[in-house]
This record gives sequence, structure tokens and C-alpha cells, in this order.
Amino acid sequence: MSLLKGKTAIITGASRGIGKAIAVKYAQEGCDVAFTDLFEDDNMKATEQELIAYGVKAKGYASDASNFEDTDRVVSEIVKEFGRIDVLVNNAGITKDTLLMRMTEDQWDAVINVNLKSVFNFTKAAQRTMLKQRSGSIVNLSSVVGVSGNAGQANYAASKAGIIGFTKSVARELGSRGVRSNAIAPGFIITEMTGKIPEDARKAWEASIPLKRGGTPEEVAGVATFLASDLSSYVSGQVITVCGAMNT
Ligand code: NAP
Repeated sequence: MSLLKGKTAIITGASRGIGKAIAVKYAQEGCDVAFTDLFEDDNMKATEQELIAYGVKAKGYASDASNFEDTDRVVSEIVKEFGRIDVLVNNAGITKDTLLMRMTEDQWDAVINVNLKSVFNFTKAAQRTMLKQRSGSIVNLSSVVGVSGNAGQANYAASKAGIIGFTKSVARELGSRGVRSNAIAPGFIITEMTGKIPEDARKAWEASIPLKRGGTPEEVAGVATFLASDLSSYVSGQVITVCGAMNT
């Protein structure tokens, strides 16, 4: 299939996990992919080669998504190299889970900056190009806990709820210029992020999910492909939940 042929995407935090699965799926669909990660390491090089093997142009860039100037620099470099931005996937994210009574200011700031400020940074830097093109699709990784909240994740849930408000505002602001903005709210997806959760807690989560299992990064990537493609040309300002019916 070539649902994304002729398009160029930027994906943040894509050397592993959900970001990498999205990058691979986009490349399989014929999309050129510029992706970022904190460091230019073996993971980044391997991902770059994996994407190029699908016959598309792909390049990894080291950048801190939470840093405004660094983001502006990297997006300018990407536009110079790739010429356009059709899709922006704001995926980079971290957790620093703890109860509010133990949460430090640093833990709060780190999660808000990496998860939420990064979405502002990249959308602001990419919108110039999308507005000139009069087209674009922005896909933001929120979470079911951004809708429901979660004990021990006040910082993370606040950042993911913020992403939903941001996504809907951008859809209203940029819609008249052909730019769409949507969020994906994954539930329990099996990656290194959820790998930190103790075995018994993970089993309890899985038992509470109607589909009786965690999701895969590829299952989130399928929805991210739909939102990037012209199949979703009249879908904007929405939050699509990918959670095996956990949040219904
Ligand atoms: P992950 O496996 O921990 O991967 C996160 C990626 O983000 C890594 O590549 C990481 O880079 C990168 N990253 C972290 N900080 C960064 C920064 N400052 N600048 C640039 N890149 C940075 O996470 P995941 O499970 O794939 O999650 C991806 C997104 O989905 C996140 O936004 C997460 O909140 C969201 N989500 C995940 C789940 C889930 O169950 N897994 C559920 C709901 C929502 P390094 O390799 O350098 O650390």
C-alpha cells in the first residue's frame, strides 16, 4: 500500500517504542520520514537504516523536544533537507510517576516540559511550513489518563490533558488553512515505558481491559497512519482512543 506516498513526516522520539512503530508504518506506506530523538546513538542509526530499506528518504536528528530553540533549529534543518512537512507526530514523552505528596518540582517540570511544551515547540515551528503549503496533519500522542486521570501520575495526566486542549485549539485556529490536528489517546501499550510497571500491577491492568491484553505499538501506528493519510481528510479536533475498550 502507499497511503502516504509523496508526503513527508516529522516524528519526535522515534528511535524506539510507539514513535518507531509509527515511523516504520509511515515508511511502509511510502512516506519520507525525518525523526528526532535525544541522542544520535546506535538506536537512531538502526532506525534510519530500517526506514531507508523501504525505499523512502529517512534521517534521524538529535534534538531535545522540550527545548524551544533546539526545536526551531531542527525543524529548519528538516525543512531545508526534505523541502516540506505534511505530517507532524508529537510522540516524545516521559513518565516520572509518584504520589503527589512525594512529587518534586523537578519531576513535575520535566514531565510537563517533555510531554506538553514539546508539542507547543514542534507545532509552532512546523506550522509556518504547513500554513504556506495550506495543508498538513498534526497527530499528538495523548493518553487515556489525560481524560480519566490516574493516581500516581498527576504530572503525566496533566501533560496529556493539556495536549488534548492544545490539539482542539490548533484544529480551530488552523482549520481554515487546511491544517488538521488530532490526538491519539492510547491505553496500556507494551513498550519500555510500561515495562517499568511491576509484573503484578501489569497483570491487574490487563485483566481490567475488555480485550484482555495490552496493545502493541503497531496498533497505535495504524491509527496514526489513518490520521496522517487523506482517508481522514474531514477528521480534525478529535481524540481517538486506542485502548481495547478500557476507557468506555
Ligand atoms: P518510550 O518507549 O519510553 O519512548 C519514548 C521516546 O521518546 C524515546 O525514543 C525517547 O528517547 C524519546 N524522548 C524522551 N524524551 C525526549 C526528548 N526530550 N526529546 C526527544 N525525544 C525524547 O515511550 P512509548 O511508550 O513509545 O510512548 C510514546 C508516546 O506515547 C509518549 O508520548 C507516551 O506518553 C504516549 N503513551 C504511551 C502509552 C503506553 O502505554 N506505552 C500510553 C499512552 C500514551 P530516548 O530513547 O533517547 O530515551
